[in-house]
Amino acid sequence: MSTLFDSVELAPRDPILGLNEQYNADTRPGKVNLGVGVYYDDQGRIPLLGAVRKAEIARIEAAAARGYLPIEGIAGYNQGAQALLIGKDSPLAAAGRVLTTQALGGTGALKIGADFLRQLLPTSKVLISDPSWENHRALFERAGFEVGTYAYYDAATRGLNFDGMLAALKAAPANTVVVLHACCHNPTGVDPTFDQWKQIAAVVKENKLVPFLDIAYQGFGEGLREDAAVVRLFADLDLTMFISSSFSKSFSLYGERVGALTVVAGSKDEATRVLSQLKRVIRTNYSNPPTHGGTIVSTVLNSPELFAMWEEELGAMRDRIRLMRKQLVEKIKEHGGKQDFSFVLQQRGMFSYSGLTSAQVDRLREEHGVYAVSSGRICVAALNSGNIDQVAKGIAAVL
Ligand code: PLP
Repeated sequence: MSTLFDSVELAPRDPILGLNEQYNADTRPGKVNLGVGVYYDDQGRIPLLGAVRKAEIARIEAAAARGYLPIEGIAGYNQGAQALLIGKDSPLAAAGRVLTTQALGGTGALKIGADFLRQLLPTSKVLISDPSWENHRALFERAGFEVGTYAYYDAATRGLNFDGMLAALKAAPANTVVVLHACCHNPTGVDPTFDQWKQIAAVVKENKLVPFLDIAYQGFGEGLREDAAVVRLFADLDLTMFISSSFSKSFSLYGERVGALTVVAGSKDEATRVLSQLKRVIRTNYSNPPTHGGTIVSTVLNSPELFAMWEEELGAMRDRIRLMRKQLVEKIKEHGGKQDFSFVLQQRGMFSYSGLTSAQVDRLREEHGVYAVSSGRICVAALNSGNIDQVAKGIAAVL
């Protein structure tokens, strides 16, 4: 029988989800999955933060009704998310030039922004870092954009190819949309220095590029405020920009889809018009955001007591990742690894480009039960005191 779906091809598997399937099917007892993009605690569990738990209990006790939210989401959530990015006392915010809408995670924020930008700049190209979070390309292509890359990672130095990056941005025509990871670059863990950011921002301004800052790991680098320094640098230069932010990682609320899209416009009137268009994009896609995760985050952001608790818990996650980086370097050395891994200490956030080749990653999986992405990306936040020896031993052996 011929059907409507005869010509439908099987889409390629998501490479990371495919890796997870392979990991789940592995029956070896000591297997370790470093292919994930999630923070695990030292017991290997996704934590439920104390601040989140308190806000959830308060919500249940209040027996709140579940009516529709406004299209742009919860006002307190949007204000809180915006303040984390550009500061509570930002003159831009006071001038009414900044707007924020609740979004379905950082991904949803990118997609709303991409759909709006595509209408606004139908002939523009999008540039993403080489390499980048694997969904950036697909997401902007799906929105209709042609997507290219700017140089970013330098495998030889295991650091930033700053000259290449700057040259690519200088060569980009006006109105090119440039997606920049504002902190804790995924997948490499390599960030520009603040001085380099100043030069990047100057080129963005000079060339009239459209910055789209993606900040999915705020708080995992140096701290909430410190990690927003790049956003504030761009804001101080009076650049109009897009910012997608995510609370998935910082609140350990992956499944609640808590993100935000913030836009800095040229005037209050512009901001009003842009928001009205973003609301149209949202309304015709999913109408309005869900209540639960947004309410929890909003409660925490707007309660001094819960905010302090959250910041402390986030700090503990950050410190644990740093400790894992330090121990990984030491233990690879102890196990006789032939390469110095101290570059891992310079990288920031949840990930590290380990420099392992795809063949070494295969051996690590087959011979040591340690799963990593074929690019060599490992999730440092999935290391713990129970698995780090095995991982270090495995890496030392395949080097
Ligand atoms: N942007 C980057 C760079 C990411 O690494 C991620 C998640 O892995 C996202 C956006 C998406 O975040 P969310 O899970 O909140 O949609």
